[in-house]
Amino acid sequence: MSGRVTILGATGSIGRSTAAVLRGHRERFSVSAVVAGRDVAGLAAAAIDLGAGFAALAEPTLLAELREALAGTGIACGAGASALREAVDREADLVVAAISGVAGLVPTRDALREGRSVALANKESLVSAGTAFMREAAERGAAILPMDSEHNALAQALAAGHPEDVESLTLTASGGPFRTWTLEAMRAATQAQTARHPTYSMGAKINVDSASLMNKGLELIEAHHLFGVPPERLEVVVHPQSIIHGLVQWRDGAVTAGMAHPDMRVPIAHCLGLDRRLATGVPRLDLAAIGRFTFEEPDLGRFPCLRLAREALAGGGPMPTVLNGANEVAVEAFLKGRLGFLDIARVVESTLDWAAGAPLPAPRTIEDALALDAEARAVAAEKLAGGPLPSALAG
Ligand code: NDP
Repeated sequence: MSGRVTILGATGSIGRSTAAVLRGHRERFSVSAVVAGRDVAGLAAAAIDLGAGFAALAEPTLLAELREALAGTGIACGAGASALREAVDREADLVVAAISGVAGLVPTRDALREGRSVALANKESLVSAGTAFMREAAERGAAILPMDSEHNALAQALAAGHPEDVESLTLTASGGPFRTWTLEAMRAATQAQTARHPTYSMGAKINVDSASLMNKGLELIEAHHLFGVPPERLEVVVHPQSIIHGLVQWRDGAVTAGMAHPDMRVPIAHCLGLDRRLATGVPRLDLAAIGRFTFEEPDLGRFPCLRLAREALAGGGPMPTVLNGANEVAVEAFLKGRLGFLDIARVVESTLDWAAGAPLPAPRTIEDALALDAEARAVAAEKLAGGPLPSALAG
């Protein structure tokens, strides 16, 4: 239960929660490297706080600023692709993969290639290039530990039985901030409103994905690769209290649920602790105070992104990669105020239509996935710029 940890995405929501867990167990862990995109001050603060050996920024032009921020600390630093590579090359027992979006693919792959265990928060890795990632991990004997709360809960629940006795897996969804909103209200939804997640505090992109339920769709694809369960045996149920995160239905009728307060420190500590449990300071569940657990079917009419992700998963081949690339472009445009909330699904659907009509090979490698991702992004950007968008809405 002790070891050297590297954090990819140290300045983000997951990175900061990882630091919070590590701070409670300084005697057990050392931090080999911390990585971020452009946030010089945040990265320097994380490196100093955690006593990291090395700090790397993706943006090469910010090296001088980073050097200045770390002057006198003895912490080595670098910037650009080679610095990211050095960060994952440094010895570590666990690499926390918490960069947002497809930017996380190469550093996560490089960590697996070094044979390092990876605690995976970056779901886009498995959505865009799931087959390649699982093969890479198997070939290098590197473990992928699910850090996403639903998958972490499922991994814990699956430990209760034999994989061949699993009938189905259910992921729960909080329903997001627009669970009870009308389509009319959702049409005018703003970025600030997507950030009012009912149960979690997260980064901007995943906030939008949670509001559209695309996040749950991405998680279905992630679960398919992590657990080797076919799409028709993966379910989603809306559970607004977000206490149950995942359920395993066994063939004998028993169900094992993974439960905890909706606090990312729980799955993070589970990954960091390996075979032991780490104290986190997360409050104990008070079931009587919670009073009621409720469940409902997701409304695919108001949340077409979940339907599109399900279709991409069922279609397989290039479709999940295209779905993810198009979604990243659409979400970014929404975050910049250039696209309405409901238009996210329309951009994704029309990009998937393009992919269905242009026979594309399934990505076999991470490079294939990145090339297809770039193509899908270019098509999605064109759809954004003009041209008729299909109506992704059933209602
Ligand atoms: P944030 O947006 O809060 O943080 C993203 C992190 O990635 C930041 O450290 C950012 O650095 C870094 N980053 C961005 N671009 C690059 C790049 N090109 N190279 C290196 N680093 C980069 O995201 P979250 O922490 O919310 O999410 C991270 C991942 O975890 C996502 O894939 C998300 O889906 C997943 N996840 C998140 C959960 C949550 O509760 N937040 C739950 C489950 C999964 P900088 O600050 O410098 O930009």
